[in-house]
Amino acid sequence: MKNILSGGKLLDKKNNFLFDELDILIKDGKIAKIEKNIRDEEANIIDLKGKIISPGFIDIHVHCFPKNTAISSQPDDIGVKRGVTTIIDAGTAGAVTIETFYKEFIKKSKTRVYSNLNISNLGLRTLDELSEIKNIELKKIKEVLKKYGDVIVGLKARASGSVVKENGILPIKLGKEIAKEVNLPLVVHIGNAPPKVEDVLNLLGKGDVVTHCYNNKKNGLIRDGGVIPEVFSAKKRGVYFDIGHGSESFSLDIAKIALERNFEAETISTDLYERNMVTPVKSLEATINKMLYLGIDLKDCIEKVTSKPAEVFKLNKLGELKVGYNGDLTIFNICDGSLELEDSVGKKVELKNYIKTEYVFIKDELIKV
Ligand code: ZN
Ligand code: ZN
Repeated sequence: MKNILSGGKLLDKKNNFLFDELDILIKDGKIAKIEKNIRDEEANIIDLKGKIISPGFIDIHVHCFPKNTAISSQPDDIGVKRGVTTIIDAGTAGAVTIETFYKEFIKKSKTRVYSNLNISNLGLRTLDELSEIKNIELKKIKEVLKKYGDVIVGLKARASGSVVKENGILPIKLGKEIAKEVNLPLVVHIGNAPPKVEDVLNLLGKGDVVTHCYNNKKNGLIRDGGVIPEVFSAKKRGVYFDIGHGSESFSLDIAKIALERNFEAETISTDLYERNMVTPVKSLEATINKMLYLGIDLKDCIEKVTSKPAEVFKLNKLGELKVGYNGDLTIFNICDGSLELEDSVGKKVELKNYIKTEYVFIKDELIKV
């Protein structure tokens, strides 16, 4: 099957496309050519004149395992229906529940779905998943990595008092040891103490990820108008920082201070699930728009939802406009008008310039958003 996506303006900083007007030929799901005026008798032509085409958006923090879990929505409701072609579930499944997640959701979705496996066996069946140390089992994690290693791209641990209860930093320490042993990044949610966020950061190393980086909690990374020094030493060691907006983890004011102090998140993600889809999170598009509002350039915002997340989680042939890569695209417009958005702490802002997703293209299919 061949499709030519014609007349769009390509945006992919990694491959030096900065609004270049080029056609893309996609053959059997893969990018076969990127050139001016591609002609091919057998190909179906899709006219996208004037629209921006970027690699398919990747959202690295969502909850998309809606079966016996505390929080989640259907993968395609978070993914392709919201302009996103790849999502990574943030620990909703653990070693004991990944099989059901794989068979009933990952395999059945149009959206590409990966997992950051919860270090706790049952994942988010309840929201105090690290209150019992016995539920963290290296042996079980190793077993499922043998079976589902193609979709498990990291491990997830939540470092909040309500999650770890009396265990403090211990579950995160164990998580880091396991991640090292199985050679995967550890993605850590940060929230209210214990454990202290400084202690959490000091455990992490190259390739690990901290999500909810712009929350406005007492135990957050930005306090009293400044960024705690542990952030910059973690960055030096190669730790990545992710937005993970969520119901209560993104403050526009905190993000503004962070950016003024040169603390910029590498990836933009939503932490989407049923309770925050109407507001305040809405979509990855809305989260990108908030970063545009804060002054991050569009090409950099797009990099943070395409090539950067693909690099962080070593996603094979995703996140770039490149011959041989998967033909996953997000197609959007830049709009002038008025758009009101809200953060997790009730601050509302009005945007005059914003993006609006129109379509995704994935697995040889154009889907209207
Ligand atoms: Zn979280
Ligand atoms: Zn989450």
